Amino acid sequence: RTNKHFRPTKAIIDLNAIKYNVSQLKKHIQPNVKIIAVVKANAYGHGDVEVAKAALEAGASMLAVATPEEALHVRKHLPEPEILVLGYSPTSFAEYAANENITLAVYSYDWVEEAEKICSKPLKLHIKVDTGMHRIGVTTEKQLRSLYEKIKLSDHLIFDGIFTHFATADEEEDAYFKKQVDKFEQFLKALPEKPRLVHVANTATALIKDARLQYDAVRFGISMYGLAPSEYVKGKLPYPLKPAFSLETELVAIKQIEPGESVGYGAAFTAEKPTYIGTLPIGYADGLIRKFSGQDVLIDGKRVPIVGRICMDQCMIALPTAYNIGEKVVLIGKQKDEEITIDEWAAKVGTINYEVPCIITSRVPRIYN
Ligand code: PLP
Repeated sequence: RTNKHFRPTKAIIDLNAIKYNVSQLKKHIQPNVKIIAVVKANAYGHGDVEVAKAALEAGASMLAVATPEEALHVRKHLPEPEILVLGYSPTSFAEYAANENITLAVYSYDWVEEAEKICSKPLKLHIKVDTGMHRIGVTTEKQLRSLYEKIKLSDHLIFDGIFTHFATADEEEDAYFKKQVDKFEQFLKALPEKPRLVHVANTATALIKDARLQYDAVRFGISMYGLAPSEYVKGKLPYPLKPAFSLETELVAIKQIEPGESVGYGAAFTAEKPTYIGTLPIGYADGLIRKFSGQDVLIDGKRVPIVGRICMDQCMIALPTAYNIGEKVVLIGKQKDEEITIDEWAAKVGTINYEVPCIITSRVPRIYN
């Protein structure tokens, strides 16, 4: 990286952990099943291009993103690999996609009709079927067949894949999951031919469900980043995962306050005894939303809490002793024998681990090792 970073706040991304997580999946799945590395949302906040390169090196053979813009960004840096846009693309993107060899998800007859008029080059399409998410996808076999026929009649459009997405693959209760699997099989039977790539498995399905559901490819997202899709899946993992995301900064100020003195906006924390207060250069504009107040961070391998309200660019921690300015502070990751996980952060604010690295804003540089 040529950019020099002055502020000590940074996310450290362990690309070897990404490679390990992908190569372990490769060993776990059936030999001919492809790995589609899901690098949408800037690779869940880890950095799309760098993660994509690491995943491809470790055995992934295709990339998936959520939006046209994400696809173009990855394509700019990686001219070769197949890229699938999982979400909605407007027809105005069809010609760009064809030019850049980007594959699109489709689920509307009108879309295909329109794209057919626009496109003058081959454009690969994956039909999305809605088996129960009720988000995007065709919902009836009739719709599927007419969409299929429309694509087949076109000169440039290529029926390259079919896929669906599960709502509950990470839960113990599997009645809804089974219903979605059955529905997908019905959809497949309604087609006169199978495309090159049939894919339904997200991380949870690839790791803990029947190997038959791996079909031709699995879409590997959250566990590529070393995180489990849910507590339930965490208890059933076929191999241990290595988290790839750490968040670090340094102490930039320290002072001792007296009993009765307070910290930050609203004077929301008041010391009961003489207390060392350290300042960290990270705040809610970095994604450390105010609800994280009270969360522990690590200094010298010890847990210390964030106290008072988190400011836009800074926050304060209560310290047992006077550390030096420049002392390293780990917000997410390991220090000596202690570890603060993304799962712990997620639990602190009542959300899922997926959300935590995604909300660390672009002001925090991602540094790769
Ligand atoms: N496939 C689709 C369509 C998705 O939307 C996602 C992520 O939400 C994934 C695959 C990857 O899921 P996971 O991160 O649970 O592996």
